[in-house]
Amino acid sequence: MSTPVAVVLSELQQATLRQLVDTFVPEVAADDDPTGFWARKGSDLGVDVAIAQQLSSGAVPDDQVEGLRQLLDALHAQGFADAPQEVREAIVHGFMDSDPAALGGLSGLRALTFLLFYAIPDPNSGRNPNWEAIGYPGPQAAPPSPEEAPKTIPITRPDTTDLTLTADVVVVGSGSGGGVIAGKLAGAGKDVVVLEAGGYYNEADFNQLELWAYQNLYRAGGLAQTAEGQIALMTGANLGGGSTVNWTNCLRTYDWVREEWEREHGLEGLAGPDYDRHLDAVSARIGVTDTCSDANGPNQRVLDAAAKLGIDGRPITRNADPDKYDPELAGYMGFGDVTGAKLGTLKTYLQDAADAGARFVVDCRVERVLVEHGRAAGVEGTYLDADGRAACVTVRAPTVVVAAGALDTPALLLRSGIGGPAAGDYLRLHPATAVIGIYDEPQKGWWGAPQAALSMEYANLRDGYGYLVETSHASPGVTGTSVPWESGRQHKTDMARGPISAAMVLLVRDRGHGRVSIDAAGNPVHTYPFDDALDLANFRHGLRTLAVMHEAAGAQEILTLHRKRTHWARAGGETIEDYAARVLAAPLSPFEHATFSLHHMGSARMGKDPETSVAGPFGELHDTPGVWIGDASAFPTASGTNPMLTTMALAHRTAEAIAAR
Ligand SMILES: Cc1cc2nc3c(=O)[nH]c(=O)nc-3n(C[C@H](O)[C@H](O)[C@H](O)COP(=O)(O)OP(=O)(O)OC[C@H]3O[C@@H](n4cnc5c(N)ncnc54)[C@H](O)[C@@H]3O)c2cc1C
Repeated sequence: MSTPVAVVLSELQQATLRQLVDTFVPEVAADDDPTGFWARKGSDLGVDVAIAQQLSSGAVPDDQVEGLRQLLDALHAQGFADAPQEVREAIVHGFMDSDPAALGGLSGLRALTFLLFYAIPDPNSGRNPNWEAIGYPGPQAAPPSPEEAPKTIPITRPDTTDLTLTADVVVVGSGSGGGVIAGKLAGAGKDVVVLEAGGYYNEADFNQLELWAYQNLYRAGGLAQTAEGQIALMTGANLGGGSTVNWTNCLRTYDWVREEWEREHGLEGLAGPDYDRHLDAVSARIGVTDTCSDANGPNQRVLDAAAKLGIDGRPITRNADPDKYDPELAGYMGFGDVTGAKLGTLKTYLQDAADAGARFVVDCRVERVLVEHGRAAGVEGTYLDADGRAACVTVRAPTVVVAAGALDTPALLLRSGIGGPAAGDYLRLHPATAVIGIYDEPQKGWWGAPQAALSMEYANLRDGYGYLVETSHASPGVTGTSVPWESGRQHKTDMARGPISAAMVLLVRDRGHGRVSIDAAGNPVHTYPFDDALDLANFRHGLRTLAVMHEAAGAQEILTLHRKRTHWARAGGETIEDYAARVLAAPLSPFEHATFSLHHMGSARMGKDPETSVAGPFGELHDTPGVWIGDASAFPTASGTNPMLTTMALAHRTAEAIAAR
C-alpha cells in the first residue's frame, strides 16, 4: 500500500495528512460507545491511506497535488504534529478563513475524509462500522445471481485493437435521451450502434454500496465539480446513464417552459398537443405510476409542512414496476436498483433497441465526430475495459446522435470542431442543496423511494423562475461531506443524529448559466459562476422556506449546509424568522456552502439562431447536417422540473424527426 503513496507524498506529508484526517475525525470521549464510533479516528479506517492513493492515482491534476503538498507542509510548519485536537482545529479554521487556496484544498480533503469514513465498507463484513451509530442499515439484500438476473442486452467487444462498424445511425451515450433515440430508431428499422463510455451493470451487480456505485456507475467516480469548486456535479455514467442511478421522479415539463421554448426558441409544437403526445408516449413506455410512492419520514415531513402552512404539497409519480417495487429496497436506488423495479432506459428503450437488432459497445468513450464533405460520417472512440484491454473504435454512419449528457456532449462537439459559437455555452445546472431537520421521531430516510413527495408552491416566483422543494437519497458518505465541520466532536454528534434527521431539498430553475469548454487534452471543463441575481434570490428564498417548513413540521433543530455551522434549536427560543435572517446572511460562495447539481442541461441547445444555439428546433446541428443532439444538452433553457421526462420527450420528438428523413 505504501508504494503508490510514496510517489506523491513525502513521509512527513503523509504523516501530516494522517493528522489532518484525524483532526476532521478524531477520537471523541463518550460514556457509551457500544460500536466504537466515538473512539474511531479517520485513520483507523485507512482514510489517510486511501486519500494518498487517490492523489497518486493520476486522477488528480499535478498542480492540485502540488498545492496539497504545500498545504500539508504549511500545516506542519504551524506545529500541527504536536498540537492537541482543539489547537489543530483552530489551525485548520485559520487556514480556511484566511486563504482561498487553502480553503479549496482543505475543503477537498475534508470532503474525501468524510465520504470515505462513512462509506468505506470493511473488507470482511462488507459494511462500514459507523453505520450502526448513524442509524444507516446498509445493504438490505444480496443481489440476485447472474443466472437469476441475466444481462439481456448483447454487447459487442473488440477482438483486436481495432473495431470498425457501419450503421445507419450511431448513438453516443445511452442515458435518458440516447436510450430513447436508439430504441425508437431501431424499432423503425434503422441499423443502430450505441456507444457508451460507462460499463454494463444490472441487478446482479447492484450491491447497494455507495462507494462501489460512485466508482462504477457515476461519472468521475462521483467526485466531479465545477471549475470554481462551488457545485458538485453528479451524473450517471453506465449503460442507461442517469436513468440507471436516478431517483425516478417523473415530472412533466411546465406549461410556461413549453410556451417559452416554442415562442422564444422556435421549438414548434412544444406548447400544444404534439408535445403532449411525446410526453405521453415516453411516460407509458417507462411505466410512470402513482402506486409506488410510499412516503418515508423526510417525504412525509414535506407533506406535513405543506399542509400546516397551507402551501402546495403532493405525492410524485415514478417510473417503477409495481410488481417488483419493494419499499425496503427502493431507498438504495441511487446505487442501482437491485429489485429491477426501476424502469430506466436499461429496462425499456435500450432493451427495445437490442431486441430490434441494435449493437452496443460499452466502455467506449467517443473522442470525435467524423465529418466528411460538411456532413456527418460517423465517430471515433477509445474502448478501455476493466481488464485494461484497449481498442480504437470507429463507427461509420451518415447519422450521428450525440447524447453524452450536457457535461460531455459539448466537449465532443468542441473536440470535433463542430457546433458553432454556442457549443458549450448556456450550461444550466439546477443548483440544489438540503436543509436538515432534526426531529423527535425516527425518520427512516433510507426506506422507500428517495423522492415520493414535493412542493411546487414556489416553482414560478418570477418570470417563470423559482424552485422546487423535494427530498434526497440517503447516502451516508455524501451526508458526511455535507454536514458542516466546526469540530470533530460536533460533526460526529450531528452524524449520530442521523436516525432522527430528515433532509428537505431545494432546486432552483437557473436563469444564469455556465459554460463547457475543453482543456488542452480535450477534456471538458465546467465553469459556472452562480452569480445571477434572480437565481441567488430564489436560492436564498428556498433556504428560508426549508427552514420554515421544518419548523412547521415539528423539527427540534435545523441545520443548513454552510461551512460555518448555521443551526437553530427550538429550545433556544430564537424565532424561525430570526434564524432565517441568519441563514440568508451566510455566504454561498465557493467552499462556503454545499451546493449540488444532479441536472445538467442546455449546453448544446436547440433554437433558431446559429449564434445562440447549436442545433435547429428538432435537434440537427445548424452547421453539420446529419449530426443531432439527443440529450438534455438540447434544452433551450433550464426545465425547472427534474429533467428525465423532458429529456425523453424531446428525444422522442428528435427520433421522429430523424426517422422522417
Ligand atoms: C443521482 C441522480 C438522481 C436523479 N434523479 C432524477 C429524478 O428523480 N428525476 C429526474 O427527472 N431526473 C433525475 N436525475 C437527472 C436525470 O437522470 C438526467 O437529467 C437525465 O438522465 C439526463 O439524460 P441525458 O441523456 O442528457 O444524459 P445521461 O442520462 O447522463 O446519459 C449520458 C450518457 O452518456 C455517456 N457518455 C458521456 N460521454 C461519452 C462519450 N464521450 N462517449 C460515449 N458515451 C459518453 C455517459 O456515460 C452517460 O451514460 C437524476 C440524476 C442523478 C445523477
